[in-house]
Amino acid sequence: MRKLVVLGAGTAGTIVVNKLRPRLSEDEWTITIVDQEPDHLYQPGFLFIPFGTYQPDDVVKPKSDFIPKGVDYIEATIDLVEPEHNRVQLEGGTELEYDFLIIATGTHPRPDQTPGLESDEYGKTIHDFFSLEGATALAEALDRFEGGQARGELDRAAYQMPGGSPRVHLPRRVLPPGTRVA
Ligand SMILES: Cc1cc2nc3c(=O)[nH]c(=O)nc-3n(C[C@H](O)[C@H](O)[C@H](O)COP(=O)(O)OP(=O)(O)OC[C@H]3O[C@@H](n4cnc5c(N)ncnc54)[C@H](O)[C@@H]3O)c2cc1C
Repeated sequence: MRKLVVLGAGTAGTIVVNKLRPRLSEDEWTITIVDQEPDHLYQPGFLFIPFGTYQPDDVVKPKSDFIPKGVDYIEATIDLVEPEHNRVQLEGGTELEYDFLIIATGTHPRPDQTPGLESDEYGKTIHDFFSLEGATALAEALDRFEGGQARGELDRAAYQMPGGSPRVHLPRRVLPPGTRVA
């Protein structure tokens, strides 16, 4: 029996196992997918949380709803990939051997890599909408905002959402009249 292991059950990993399970005979291939989080987050929906179109619950669904029959789903943190041994180590000591490995562990915001963003103001007066926590904090901040100056910045390395640049103008629609938007 050959073994396909997929690391990460986000958008990419989930699509891959849904596409490959019908194509790989269950007599020849096992498919295992690993993720540390029980919930799937619909990231494009984060954009609509700060402006009240979506609530956080609208973008969260159990990952298991999207894993097809015939795929083993392991909820665990991936600790180490050992390509020289065709092996993955999970936290807690489980080892997974593979014949074919797909790594789909995604990206996450790294404010510490942009000078200034890692300040204590991050999450208070400086916000992003690249995570559920960030989008929710921004929604709360916009609710509290009574006027003043708002500034939108696009990080040079916006790999997580290349389409983000035209969207930084959106706050204009929801900020109090007279707010200066830079
Ligand atoms: C605001 C916003 C708007 C967007 N709009 C669009 C759009 O309009 N169109 C579009 O095509 N794309 C859009 N995107 C981008 C799209 O959502 C992402 O490209 C996509 O979700 C990435 O999928 P992924 O599977 O690579 O990563 P993710 O969906 O992030 O999945 C990675 C998974 O790996 C798991 N993981 C990571 N490390 C470990 C570990 N060590 N152990 C176990 N599990 C681990 C995580 O828990 C996660 O479930 C948007 C993104 C954002 C934030």
